[in-house]
Amino acid sequence: MISTFVLDSQVDFVSFDGGVLARGQLAKPSQSALRELSDIEEKVLSGKKARITRGAGLSCAASNFGDGITTVDNSRFTEILEFDSESGLLEVQAGSTLAHIHNYLSEIGRYLVVQPDYPAITLGGCIAVDVHGKNQLKDGNFRHQVHSLKLFHPSRGIVSASRAINNDIFELTCGGYGLTGHIISAKLQTKALPSPLMALYRVPVDDILTMPELLVTAAEECDYAVSWHDFSARGAAFGRGFLLIGKFVSAQYDLRKASKSALPLYWPLDSHSRKGVDLALYSLPFNRLVNVLYGGCNRFNTEPALSAVKDCLFSDRKKRELYYKMFGRAGFHESELIVPAEQFSLFIKSIENWLDKNELAVTLASAKAFRGSQSLLRFEGEGVCFTLNFPRCAAGNSFMQYLDALILELGLTPYIVRDSRLPLSVVTHAYPHYDDFKGRLRQYDRERLYRSQLSNRLGL
Ligand SMILES: Cc1cc2nc3c(=O)[nH]c(=O)nc-3n(C[C@H](O)[C@H](O)[C@H](O)COP(=O)(O)OP(=O)(O)OC[C@H]3O[C@@H](n4cnc5c(N)ncnc54)[C@H](O)[C@@H]3O)c2cc1C
Repeated sequence: MISTFVLDSQVDFVSFDGGVLARGQLAKPSQSALRELSDIEEKVLSGKKARITRGAGLSCAASNFGDGITTVDNSRFTEILEFDSESGLLEVQAGSTLAHIHNYLSEIGRYLVVQPDYPAITLGGCIAVDVHGKNQLKDGNFRHQVHSLKLFHPSRGIVSASRAINNDIFELTCGGYGLTGHIISAKLQTKALPSPLMALYRVPVDDILTMPELLVTAAEECDYAVSWHDFSARGAAFGRGFLLIGKFVSAQYDLRKASKSALPLYWPLDSHSRKGVDLALYSLPFNRLVNVLYGGCNRFNTEPALSAVKDCLFSDRKKRELYYKMFGRAGFHESELIVPAEQFSLFIKSIENWLDKNELAVTLASAKAFRGSQSLLRFEGEGVCFTLNFPRCAAGNSFMQYLDALILELGLTPYIVRDSRLPLSVVTHAYPHYDDFKGRLRQYDRERLYRSQLSNRLGL
């Protein structure tokens, strides 16, 4: 069947955090029956150079669009292609969302061990960013469960890549920000779901400086471990919070019951809907009130709770949509950093010191344990992965600059896809393999066809 495309000649794109605006073109397939990506090439892109693929568009960085660049929307390609029950390998088109994959797998009592926690995120976005899930320390990054992938590049056609064949392309594509071409599909290693239910435990944390050790122990012993901290409290209460630990319950449950509660396939949150309502509600007093209520409810609720796996993997879905929309049109900053354990205390004290002197509502402060060594431009390393959110305002902008300086001073690693303004100088300092990535990318694609605002900003 021949597919037709809709081409919008001028589209205003905005990054999910509201920080980057650009005008480009949008190529959107109007049918879902596309088999060969060369259709796009012939009908839409012939004669045009710069292009980039877009998944759900949920990255904070402008990695899926750019000025004068054609964004190729991949969201219609959601077919589950094949499941091999012996090996547990699932082949899926790259536009499939985590919800598509979860719904298919939960029916057969399986799951993906590594997944970011919003169901609308696509497989292509997970591979191209090499995302992490709720327990990176134990399970590694997303690419560890990618067996192989099919990649389209106009000068190479469709190429299969895995650890065994075209390993160079595989490595460059996993965490390559879409710059090696258009991922069509991938084979993923799935695992047997131990149970459709998880037990969730909340452990109050009074001293944030104990987190590196607590997180590692929890991550090693459990299936997931994430902490939450109150950065609006001052003095001894600064950073108090709780550790949320999840464990599959060992009792046998009827898997058919779990399969009945499929995840919806439509999720309303994207970069345009996020800024649709101009609320901008986050002030420091409001932030303090919310943190006291949220922190209090969780810190004193130490009874274990049973929860469906989907509600643990994709937690607080509805609340998150409201949470992001409340930043309004101006948007928000997100900074996610790997902090080596030996620098953690200095990192926290520096932030506390800055927040004591400046008025800024830190709406999220959360941590996970990370393990592994950093390679190419992938967000990996040893230490505590710390996430901060705050409004995009004058104080927020100067806090970001302060964090840039801390990255250099303390040897932290920033997550490239979470920060839409991360300067090149910080990236080259924090990512020792930057030149290697850039050189290999140029060797792979001398014309540098796949581009985005992110790749332009980072000189890739
Ligand atoms: C609510 C929320 C929760 C999140 N939680 C986590 C988390 O727990 N862990 C984590 O690591 N991240 C997390 N993220 C970040 C998110 O996982 C990444 O930004 C992810 O890349 C978004 O995927 P997407 O489908 O929206 O892709 P997009 O944002 O559209 O694109 C991201 C990158 O992938 C490329 N890409 C997409 N599809 C393809 C394709 N088919 N072929 C080639 N390249 C492609 C794009 O070119 C771009 O470079 C979260 C984001 C949100 C909004």
